[in-house]
Amino acid sequence: MRKWMPDIQERCRFAAAAALDLIFPPRCPLCDGLLQKGEHGICARCGKTLPYVTEPYCMKCGKALEEENSDLCPDCRRIAHAFVRCRSVFVYEDRMKSAMYRLKYAGRKEYAGALAKLSAEYLGDWIRQIGPDAVVSVPLHKSRMRKRGYNQAALFAKALSERLGLVCRDDLVMRVKKTLPQKNLSRSERQKNLKKAFKIRQNDVKLDTVLLVDDIYTTGSTMDALAETFLQAGAKSVYCLTICTGRGRRSL
Ligand SMILES: [Zn+2]
Ligand SMILES: [Zn+2]
Repeated sequence: MRKWMPDIQERCRFAAAAALDLIFPPRCPLCDGLLQKGEHGICARCGKTLPYVTEPYCMKCGKALEEENSDLCPDCRRIAHAFVRCRSVFVYEDRMKSAMYRLKYAGRKEYAGALAKLSAEYLGDWIRQIGPDAVVSVPLHKSRMRKRGYNQAALFAKALSERLGLVCRDDLVMRVKKTLPQKNLSRSERQKNLKKAFKIRQNDVKLDTVLLVDDIYTTGSTMDALAETFLQAGAKSVYCLTICTGRGRRSL
């Protein structure tokens, strides 16, 4: 009887995964098409044309640059960031805009795993080089979390950490201030908006290096505010990674 157990367990797991696939059939995050047999995470067509951030990109915030005559984007030439460096995997254009929208608002939680796989493949060496003691996603305020039901950045951070064998610590920090949407605010308004937005849950985090993770990088104000919070709590260096980033045009 005991001999049969692993086999039964294995079959149950397989049946559960198959049932889940029926309810939430796996879809390609970029085009939202149903994946065909043999396709994993991303469809074959989108897999050939992924909009990766390639060189030149800003050496500080990771934004894609249009010209090679500077190491920094217009924003980073003017302002200092609290984080050491940010890298992003994809340029936030066309298909990625719709993909991020569906991940965030349309319940396509299953995209997080596929995007984490692609991110680990593309930036895994860089992340390993940093050697973060913890991977932390940008937290949502509890009222927004209640409304949305999940935090897309947290799902991504968890999947990415699992792939790279890193520790995901989303218990460390919380969003205590209900901030306004940042979209139409100037840089100084964003900074004001984010002041005291985050709070570390314990006095001494005892982490040297932290990797902050979010879905989209825009001006870096959120990352700066969160990085600042960790530095004040004793972290020595904070790095950031986002799934998408814009192009390095002036946004101030
Ligand atoms: Zn596709
Ligand atoms: Zn920059």
